[in-house]
Amino acid sequence: MNELHRVATDVATVKLLIDGEFVESATSEWREVVDPATGAVLARVPFATAGEVEAAVAAAQRAFATWRRTPIGARARIFLKYQQLIRAHMGELAAILTAEQGKTLADAEGDVFRGLEVVEHAAAIGNLQLGEYAHNVAGGVDTYTLLQPLGVCAGITPFNFPAMIPLWMFPMAIATGNTFVLKPSEQDPMVTMRLVELALEAGIPKGVLNVVHGGADVVNAICDHPDIRAVSFVGSTRVGTHVYRRASTAGKRVQCMMGAKNHAVVLPDASKAQTLDALAGAAFGAAGQRCMAASTAVLVGEARAWIPELVEKARALKVGAGGEPGTDVGPVISCAARERIEGLIASGVEQGARLELDGRHPAVPGYESGHFVGPTVFSGVKPGMRIYDEEIFGPVLVILEADTLDAAIALVNANPNGNGTAVFTQSGAAARRFQEEIDVGQVGINVPIPVPVPLFSFTGSRASKLGDLGPYGKQVVTFYTQTKTVTARWFDEASAGHGVNTTISLR
Ligand code: NAD
Repeated sequence: MNELHRVATDVATVKLLIDGEFVESATSEWREVVDPATGAVLARVPFATAGEVEAAVAAAQRAFATWRRTPIGARARIFLKYQQLIRAHMGELAAILTAEQGKTLADAEGDVFRGLEVVEHAAAIGNLQLGEYAHNVAGGVDTYTLLQPLGVCAGITPFNFPAMIPLWMFPMAIATGNTFVLKPSEQDPMVTMRLVELALEAGIPKGVLNVVHGGADVVNAICDHPDIRAVSFVGSTRVGTHVYRRASTAGKRVQCMMGAKNHAVVLPDASKAQTLDALAGAAFGAAGQRCMAASTAVLVGEARAWIPELVEKARALKVGAGGEPGTDVGPVISCAARERIEGLIASGVEQGARLELDGRHPAVPGYESGHFVGPTVFSGVKPGMRIYDEEIFGPVLVILEADTLDAAIALVNANPNGNGTAVFTQSGAAARRFQEEIDVGQVGINVPIPVPVPLFSFTGSRASKLGDLGPYGKQVVTFYTQTKTVTARWFDEASAGHGVNTTISLR
């Protein structure tokens, strides 16, 4: 029997949102949403039918006719109300997120909070969507720009930030006057749906925000649909590359934020205690399931001697259920993810890396059915080993060594990914050289996970990103709008009488 059909039937179902109504899918394909700490089934999620995707897009298309004309103030006030509702429900949202995703409650609140910051930014849409105006570009002629919404936009999101990443997408798309179809991760859609309920409570009108669930078929239908104008994707490089090709071939604007291998370069003059704490937090926090996790440390020169202390920091972290107080490292998302990570750890041993700390099969009393991998550290890692070449997306830190800062920079630049990187040093000159020479889109200087706040945009680069413009910040306003440039002149017949100059030219 197909895995999709072998699901419990006595649990709650996740609904679709079509034209303002939360509806039960008519599909025959369902998948279970599983608590990764216990293995308990929390809900069933539908894989929407082609007709349901069509209905969601049609509702968004109808709603666009009026939403696009909604005054700025009315749009902004919805997001002011929405940010207040998210704050009021923070504890509830974090609890749902921890139950279905596994990260600790503190990390879950962080997940919601980083999305909340984008909602706050969306409330400032009046300032963000201003056009430009040039007076008198020729005699009596003015030129100005309008940033107009595109129409129906769509978003496809990954499992690892089920609050933040949907909130990267639909608030800014809707604030700029578009309507939206969201396809959340099928692995943990419940917190996303609670956020969507709150968005409707904040006043988002019917049809402006729609949600369909599913996998490849639903994503492909979104990529192909002629009425969808723009697609934002966040997820793995494998799927993102496919989405980019398919949706851009269908004529859409597309932005894909994808996989990573983020290097933390540690110089021997770095502030040691802070650096080791930062590395442990950035490698193992959220069980390493962050696209900006510092999963690769490059120890330069005498910083190589810090490996034993780094390993001890990793060993001291407590593995447990995300909802239990004191947990540092929660479970990974699924049994399949755990097996993949364990397979990569085995490959590291086979390919000759030194396994300094083996986190496989940790004892977590009371949670024997959970999908746990404890902090794992490899040293002696080299390019060509699978643990270096592939994104592990688990609590595994791989350590490489370099003789000089220049050698470390060359190593990072030779890796195809460009999501994030960090340098740890007390030398301003070294940090500045790193900032100048490194070919990675987001750089931390003594900051291990340099995710920009929404005043800026998320600017991963190279193999971690397809499309020119990133999510949130200024770039996303450009992504979700068409710049229309108007050149205008007006004939002032009253003052000019018969002397109207009809020879005005733009030259
Ligand atoms: P994923 O690519 O498996 O899934 C992402 C989305 O694509 C989901 O909604 C999923 O349903 C859909 N999907 C899955 N298989 C598909 C297929 N064959 N065809 C079409 N759609 C498909 O990613 P994930 O495992 O949910 O998330 C982890 C990945 O996301 C990691 O690689 C991580 O680095 C990346 N990520 C990147 C960023 C970033 O900003 N660069 C942020 C978060 C996560």
